Amino acid sequence: MYEIGTPEHSLVTTCAYCGVGCTFKAEMRGDELVRMVPYKDGKANRGHSCVKGRFAYGYATHKDRILKPMIRSSIHEPWKEVSYEEAIAYAASEFKRIQAKYGRRAVGGITSSRCTNEETYLVQKLIRGAFGNNNVDTCARVCHSPTGYGLSQTYGTSAGTQDFDSVEDSDVILVIGANPTDGHPVFGSRMKKRLREGAKLIIVDPRKIDLVRTPHVEADYHLPLRPGTNVAIVTALAHVIVTEGLVNEDFVRTYCDWEEFQEWAEFVAEERHSPEAVQQYTGVDPALVRGAARLYATGGNAAIYYGLGVTEHSQGSTTVIAIANLAMATGNIGRNGVGVNPLRGQNNVQGSCDMGSFPHELPGYRHVAEDDTRVLFERDWGVKLDDEPGLRIPNMFDAAVDGTFKGMYVQGEDILQSDPDTRHVSAGLGALECLVVQDLFLNETANYAHVFLPGCSFLEKDGTFTNAERRIQRVRKVMAPKNGYADWEVTMMLSKALGYEMDYQHPSEIMDEIARLTPTFTGVSYKKLDELGSVQWPCNEKAPEGTPVMHIGGFVRGKGKFMLTEYVATDERTGPRFPLLLTTGRILSQYNVGAQTRRTANVAWHPEDVLEIHPHDAENRGIRDGDFVRLESRAGSTSLKAVISDRMPTGVVYTTFHHPITQANVITTDFSDWATNCPEYKVTAVQVSPSNGP
Ligand code: SF4
Repeated sequence: MYEIGTPEHSLVTTCAYCGVGCTFKAEMRGDELVRMVPYKDGKANRGHSCVKGRFAYGYATHKDRILKPMIRSSIHEPWKEVSYEEAIAYAASEFKRIQAKYGRRAVGGITSSRCTNEETYLVQKLIRGAFGNNNVDTCARVCHSPTGYGLSQTYGTSAGTQDFDSVEDSDVILVIGANPTDGHPVFGSRMKKRLREGAKLIIVDPRKIDLVRTPHVEADYHLPLRPGTNVAIVTALAHVIVTEGLVNEDFVRTYCDWEEFQEWAEFVAEERHSPEAVQQYTGVDPALVRGAARLYATGGNAAIYYGLGVTEHSQGSTTVIAIANLAMATGNIGRNGVGVNPLRGQNNVQGSCDMGSFPHELPGYRHVAEDDTRVLFERDWGVKLDDEPGLRIPNMFDAAVDGTFKGMYVQGEDILQSDPDTRHVSAGLGALECLVVQDLFLNETANYAHVFLPGCSFLEKDGTFTNAERRIQRVRKVMAPKNGYADWEVTMMLSKALGYEMDYQHPSEIMDEIARLTPTFTGVSYKKLDELGSVQWPCNEKAPEGTPVMHIGGFVRGKGKFMLTEYVATDERTGPRFPLLLTTGRILSQYNVGAQTRRTANVAWHPEDVLEIHPHDAENRGIRDGDFVRLESRAGSTSLKAVISDRMPTGVVYTTFHHPITQANVITTDFSDWATNCPEYKVTAVQVSPSNGP
């Protein structure tokens, strides 16, 4: 292995895009990154990659990067470049002024699922230690927070059950609300390989995603449900399994609470949950639901993979619970080839949640109201902790509009572009007296900022990411920070200026602290990661090299918990003015709001967001392929080009959200999951009409 600064060198590091967590050899010539070579020993990717990880790293050296800190007293003033010392001193004095005037809980912050575990851990520590409250949340709030809630309630842990290798032992694969070939391409390829070998496939999705029919792969069942009816369809699958005697009673009696199971079985057996009864909501042919349920229950090892099409609904948590019930009822938990597997969107969604980024939980998912937990952290951190849960992201915006929340520190997240109901977010951000944004670029959120602190790309960082299979992997610095400081150093400087000093010389020391305070990370260290390549948590005395498959021989919480899942229709309704339903997703070459991929050659493959619309819906509105259309909801409107496609069912349209010019989130509503406030991005009533242009 070569040292940084030698003429030619390479280091193994981890992709900063999706939750698959592919590893690469970054090949350098001096300070120049020559190419990213998929790492053949990468445990998550085994030498494979997609077009994002392989080619879309040029944003790290893009001319748009801001490398000097900037401040301004008002968002109407021009930015002024200053030293880090001046920017930090200004931010700290503003936060202190706000707390003196409005109270300790008038400030907070947001951690990023794009940043490392160590950076995320430090931001939540700053908020708890220096701000003295629990107003910390993560961008995982808007994607997989229902996964955390649903799986911890039923199984006892906020994470997927399997490693990626497990799919090689699956006989039946059920994909619901996910599009792995676009969203998680390297794992999608592995899934396709298993399907080509003969595994059966069930797809639950309104849209004909690629997996429904692609060369050498064809779904055995495609259930094209109406957006917003996941709970009804999954409960109908359970109805068939229970009423046709397909329950794995041995598994349930051994590993689950039998009384809770009986109550659940009686509930799902009610006729109102039958495929025939719920067809009025779901629109799915009951024969397809019955066939899919029989295949899932009797086809051998059956694995469920799901994505944001499950979580980003007003019943996101209920659907996760319904999926967990289904796997328990059929005994598809606790061995290879089965399980419940959330496909995480961003590279470190799992990690940012593990690191205590939630307003009610300290690192390791321990509640802030638990005295023993607080005492443990208070002793280690040398600070008194607040025992009252803080604000979630949407509540921060509400409180800002109400005038009780005045200051925010946002690391690595463009909340204005990525959160729903842009008008409300914009009103909240505009009401803040001090907004500190730490990022690579002057993103849309920075339009409302008073302090801008330059951030580092993943190529300039040491740290770790945790992927969708709980795999902790090293991120290695292949070039010096272009802005002079690592993100964790800047957080430390801000904390010190606020009066709470932290003292780390290297991110490895932060990981040592995480391992000391978080039971599932016991024994994790950079040395161990260097030796083993990666570790899947839980890592502890019982499993010093980690745990690829969870819940073997029993659930983490003790007995698996069946919970009732009553379908409740979303409050977002279609009607004469807004007769269509809009759902959203992403495309292979682009990533989320596009801040990174739009600044690479990948943009040529997908230069704009388009609206997919069924031929009948297009014809009824006089829309031709390629026409500009106006897309309007109760929240707002935008314009984009139409693509006529029979991938869509009638009555449903679809777009991506990669380009700020489209501003897809101007359209989305402020409805959210009942348990976690995860926004309902996937269901918006809209009208589509011809338009003259953007
Ligand atoms: Fe990166 Fe995900 Fe592509 Fe792998 S599949 S290279 S982690 S974007």
